[in-house]
Amino acid sequence: MRKVGIYCRISQDRTGAGLGVARQEADCRALVERRGWTVADVYADNDVSAYSGKRRPQWERMLEDIRNGFIDAVVCWHIDRLTRTPLELEGVIALAERHGVELATVTGEIDLATPSGKMVARMLGAAARGEAEHKAERQARQRRQNAEMGKVSGGGARPYGYAEDRVTIVEDEADIIREVAKRMLLGESQSSICRDLEERDVRTPKGGYWKPTTLRRLMASARISGRREHTPRKSFETTRPLLGEIVADAVWPEIITVEQSDQLRALLSDPDRAALFAHPTGRTYLLSGILTCAKPKDDGTLCGWRMSGRPKSGTPRYVCHNTPGSPACGGTATVASRTDEHVRDMILTALASPEMLHQLTTKNDQDTGLAALIAEDEKDLAELAVMAAKKQITRAEWMAARTVVEKRLEENRAKQVRQTGAPMLLGFIGTFEDMTQRWKKSLNDSQRRAIVAATVHKINVYPADPRKKWDPDRFEFDWVA
Ligand SMILES: [Zn+2]
Repeated sequence: MRKVGIYCRISQDRTGAGLGVARQEADCRALVERRGWTVADVYADNDVSAYSGKRRPQWERMLEDIRNGFIDAVVCWHIDRLTRTPLELEGVIALAERHGVELATVTGEIDLATPSGKMVARMLGAAARGEAEHKAERQARQRRQNAEMGKVSGGGARPYGYAEDRVTIVEDEADIIREVAKRMLLGESQSSICRDLEERDVRTPKGGYWKPTTLRRLMASARISGRREHTPRKSFETTRPLLGEIVADAVWPEIITVEQSDQLRALLSDPDRAALFAHPTGRTYLLSGILTCAKPKDDGTLCGWRMSGRPKSGTPRYVCHNTPGSPACGGTATVASRTDEHVRDMILTALASPEMLHQLTTKNDQDTGLAALIAEDEKDLAELAVMAAKKQITRAEWMAARTVVEKRLEENRAKQVRQTGAPMLLGFIGTFEDMTQRWKKSLNDSQRRAIVAATVHKINVYPADPRKKWDPDRFEFDWVA
């Protein structure tokens, strides 16, 4: 007499709703009785999705009982209750062959011991799977249609920057998004921005603090630029890809512009770019990816490889790193500490100069008269100094006048920077000494890097002259202008 295991599974596919476990079990028990077998055990899994990769604990327990010889027949309602994938079905067929297990289903005779019975089982399994796939496809089509119609997708926490209706902008959150966008585009790292947000107690819609991964997802989403994004969900896929397909424009009010959003999406999804900000050794190489090898090749053009940080005998250096297969020449290296200092001095000197500030601030053709005011104040300062030198005014008069002009100058410079959307530089620009102090004491590596990235496109590094110990002329700055 066969010892039977009854296997039941609830799922939403096929006749799911009308076919609860109780009904499946009752039908199976009736079949067992007709056959004159006995029920050894009932295994029931609650498995909502048709072919999710979710484990089925009762299923696994049943397979174990087959292997142990505790049961030698399996009864189920339909083959699609038993297996979800062709692979699972083949597993059952193999097990049936090895242990002589008999299979019976309420909906029809299947004899896994004969070739034709196996074929029937395979066909039934394939048909059930096809049905499940059709259903998944229908659902995906529906989601896509909703997306194209610009329907607001429901469920989950509200998106940051928008109210519960997912359309109304929450202004203070929108300000944070705009600020983060600018800082990311200037090259500040996600973790640095997250630390800053935490210090300011800026929280996510769920009330937690921002983590680099969540911030990255927010800033890469097309939603914040008013666009609807659709990510097709494939079966077995556990993590959503960062970027989906943009299927509709101007669906709800934008927080950042489409241009900014596209730049962010490119930046955040580019692993090369992301690697520039990584520092696996724990030491930050401030200038990796910014220093560019300028050793001439045989044809006279420069190598052009972006240099990266690598220690040699414990001394951090930037090198044109030649790995097999890369076009890097491997011929240029410079000591990191000395180079970082030199570049810092050059950049702070440039930032303290009116010319650089002027170039930085007028690159967007936003001349609002500030440039003229700044130039005038600078001229005034110079004239005051001359008058003081010629004793036309007293030292006290000179100091008093200078204080007024300098204060106005600082304000106008800050305004000018703000207009061009360089918030990292805003609040940083000052005298060379001030900036040097702040650079050393209050900036973190990521902020320093952002300032470098905002002021230079790249810095060419020419090969060292063996006769010179340290040669600042090796460095050629390609200023942002
Ligand atoms: Zn090179």
